[in-house]
Amino acid sequence: MPSLFTVPIHALKQIGPKRAQLFEQLGLSTVGQLLRYYPRTYRNWQTVRDIRDVPPDETAVIRVTVTRPPAERRIRKGMILYKFSAADETGSVEVTLFNNKFGAARFTAGSEFLLYGKLNGSGLYRTMSAPDFAEAGNGGQIQPIYGQTEGLPSRIIQQAAAQALTMLPEQVRDPLPDELRTRRGLCGLREAICTLHQPPDMDRLAEAHRRAAYEELLVMQLGLLRHKSHSRGETALRLTHDDSEAFFARLPFAPTGAQRRAVSDAIRDMMRSTPMARLLQGDVGSGKTAVAAALCHTAARNGLQSALMAPTEILAAQHASTLQKLFDGTGIVCALLTGSTPAARKREILAGLADGSVHVVAGTHALISDAVVFQRLGLIITDEQHRFGVAQRAALSAKGAQPHLLVMSATPIPRTLALMMYGDLDLSVLDELPPGRLPVDTLAIRSSRRERAFAFIRSQLELGRQAYVVCSLVEGDDEAPDDRKAAADYCTELQHGALAGFTVDLLHGRMKAAEKEAAMAKFAAGETQVLVATTVIEVGVDVPNASVMLIENAERFGLSQLHQLRGRVGRGGTQSYCILVSDAQGAEARKRLSVMVETTDGFRIADEDLQLRGPGDFFGTRQHGLPALQMAGQYSDIALMQMAQEDALSILHTDPGLDAPQHRALATEVRRLFGSFGGTLN
Ligand code: ADP
Ligand code: MG
Repeated sequence: MPSLFTVPIHALKQIGPKRAQLFEQLGLSTVGQLLRYYPRTYRNWQTVRDIRDVPPDETAVIRVTVTRPPAERRIRKGMILYKFSAADETGSVEVTLFNNKFGAARFTAGSEFLLYGKLNGSGLYRTMSAPDFAEAGNGGQIQPIYGQTEGLPSRIIQQAAAQALTMLPEQVRDPLPDELRTRRGLCGLREAICTLHQPPDMDRLAEAHRRAAYEELLVMQLGLLRHKSHSRGETALRLTHDDSEAFFARLPFAPTGAQRRAVSDAIRDMMRSTPMARLLQGDVGSGKTAVAAALCHTAARNGLQSALMAPTEILAAQHASTLQKLFDGTGIVCALLTGSTPAARKREILAGLADGSVHVVAGTHALISDAVVFQRLGLIITDEQHRFGVAQRAALSAKGAQPHLLVMSATPIPRTLALMMYGDLDLSVLDELPPGRLPVDTLAIRSSRRERAFAFIRSQLELGRQAYVVCSLVEGDDEAPDDRKAAADYCTELQHGALAGFTVDLLHGRMKAAEKEAAMAKFAAGETQVLVATTVIEVGVDVPNASVMLIENAERFGLSQLHQLRGRVGRGGTQSYCILVSDAQGAEARKRLSVMVETTDGFRIADEDLQLRGPGDFFGTRQHGLPALQMAGQYSDIALMQMAQEDALSILHTDPGLDAPQHRALATEVRRLFGSFGGTLN
């Protein structure tokens, strides 16, 4: 098998330089890599259903006989429809093909086909558009579907993989040691590879998935755990004295026990000769900022600079102003540096960081770019770590200065998962909310009661409070072009309707940074009474006077996201409310809403989320910054994760360097998965 990793992909028949380039785009340049490129999903042609049994709009495979051959109809220039009728013993279906002259010609009267597609309609009138089809005799397979790229359809990848399989030697070196495999009841690598590319049946496929997911989890665990124990070099940035009490005395409130513990954990770390690498987990509103500030304060008193990184400019600005207030009169100088800092001011700050006259800087990721030079950077704190992954952490320690690192997360993660995802960090948990917090009163309503909800919001505004209205536009690349307009329209509608007479402003992800900041600042200052926002407010924003949040189409959000959103209210001393508007009928959506109504405990919500959605979402690359896992997200469960975790610990316990012969192939896989980290994993 290792040798196949040196055989270039164009060694396969029908793959010339041009196609090889397309494979390259998928990260596949060798036959070995292709064999390890597992299908994204499968089309199961084995489970054939009766037309009558398929509910409306469900996707299924049906076996039909053509009763009326295709009729051609040109609907407009360049678009020809082919419609034909077909039936099984239980019902009939009208099938439409688009611009598929050759395909259509095969559906002669009396011929038998398997069709795979969405079966629309009900009763006597069922239709199917552009199904996949196979002649009935050829059916019965489980067809692999590969992640494809423009010009390289799954079918071609499938053919290439089939060829590659014939080159697979009888003996394949399996990264999983035999003993482990037997004990855990997992199939061998060779069998897994063959099964994943050409599954004989669903049971064997499930076994292969389990094995592949386990291997990924194990390799990831080994990588993270080794990273934890090996990558931290010596640091010259040790703290010598703890100045946190002086800082606590300046706070307008008494720190909670949990805040004190987190601060002293971190300071103890920073007094050691290895740099701190700690995760601070605390539910929304648990007061992570005060912990960060206490550490920046102590670092400054020890002659070290600190950088506080936030995922958005809004949040960075808010942190900067919080710190400035807290450090007023201490002589500690704090600055804000983001993409929208004016050039002249930026030059000033950069100079201050270089000569040490600026002690603490808040900003976005740009802070750790090469252009920013610190005189003596001792502490890096990142807020909302999801967007700051292992790769960046490794890049930082590789910078050589070995600053201390505190990663703050407001996403409560079930313990199993936290250990899995942050295996390279030590953990502090803020498990205590500041005193006097009232849990947010949450209710789920149908849209028919929206009027009453807005009447309630008006009554809160009249009491001098502020409100958020969240409309669930999808942020990001797939945002439809006129969604922005929809948000603006919705905002205008409120201004002239339900919220006439109040000041209403709009905040969404597509606004320019300066505009966002201005909108946020006005809301924070109380100039705006209602902020209509998309999920950009999900992260971190702190306006204690906001006492009510209404979330439109609440079913569109995941539990954790709803929890984050709700965390924007209930931050002051008054009773706050969260109104979830949804007409969703689905059982899962209703369940999510009822969890939100029942509890405000972030850890419980995270657990429910894990139960409802499985670990897949937590492994989505967008979230955690871990190397992308192909299989673990879709095909693993908590038990498998725990197994991988235990096994990784026990392997490293006996063989920390993965040097034993039976672990060498594993070490290679660890290097492959964490390859992009360069030399940090030896
Ligand atoms: P998060 O952990 O969500 O980042 P913040 O740091 O923004 O929470 O704190 C939430 C609010 O709680 C802020 O207004 C902050 O001033 C306040 N706060 C933090 N710690 C305490 C405390 N020990 N007692 C009272 N209020 C506190
Ligand atoms: Mg925060």
